[in-house]
Amino acid sequence: MTGHKRTAVVTGGGSGIGLAIADRLAVDGHRVAVFDLDPSGFPDGYTVDVTDRDQVDHALTEVRWAFGPVTILVNSAGQEGYKRFTNLSFDTWNRVIDVNLNSVFHCVQAVLPDMIGEGWGRIINISSSSTHSGQPYMSHYVAAKSAVNGLTKSLALEYGPAGITVNAVPPGFIDTPMLRRSESRGLLGRTIGDHIQETPVRRAGRPEDIAATCSFLASEDAGYITGQIIGVNGGRST
Ligand code: NAP
Repeated sequence: MTGHKRTAVVTGGGSGIGLAIADRLAVDGHRVAVFDLDPSGFPDGYTVDVTDRDQVDHALTEVRWAFGPVTILVNSAGQEGYKRFTNLSFDTWNRVIDVNLNSVFHCVQAVLPDMIGEGWGRIINISSSSTHSGQPYMSHYVAAKSAVNGLTKSLALEYGPAGITVNAVPPGFIDTPMLRRSESRGLLGRTIGDHIQETPVRRAGRPEDIAATCSFLASEDAGYITGQIIGVNGGRST
């Protein structure tokens, strides 16, 4: 890592991609706090439902007190969903929008004052490669993640002058508990091995692949990269 020790918050950092990002930012020398429904996998974990603004604000107060202003935010909390659109209840639609999109609204809005105050910030939103061409039975999830990409671009324009970069990382096919749950419920259509055969680099992604990209985007060196949607997908952007 080049440069300063910062305070970072990683949502969804209790598992999978978020946990790998939190571990990597800690190795990079940052003070890292994880917000998750079950944060027990990480030393500085806070039990937070990121769809609840009061819980986000409360945990942020504790993080600021312990570590100082938050200048790196990675939004990785997410929830997938599989439902034929005609069978999709409005409650399920709303829940998936809440976890994948509204959580980003809450966390970004709550953390921005710290970044503006410091004149420096890095926001990284984990979206999904499904936003490139859509995904059957995942209309609610793809709608939410596509909105996250749009939000990313707009915030980049709005807060670039304040020294804050905002980027999205849409992962491809990453081997995590979320993916394994989907496979065991028969929701991937085919096996993970079939998907690997359709991936140019011929392997599933690892959480560490996403973490390495986030590490760079959070660094001083990435200061001229903003408003970008940076796919990490082994060459398969569907
Ligand atoms: P994961 O292992 O299920 O991790 C997601 C984490 O988010 C879990 O720890 C989960 O907590 C937490 N979470 C869910 N709802 C939350 C809430 N309301 N408040 C706080 N934490 C919450 O999934 P992953 O595969 O690492 O996914 C990480 C991100 O990458 C997600 O945004 C996902 O949509 C995206 N993504 C993943 C893939 C992939 O192939 N794996 C592909 C594209 C995009 P609990 O486990 O306690 O519920």
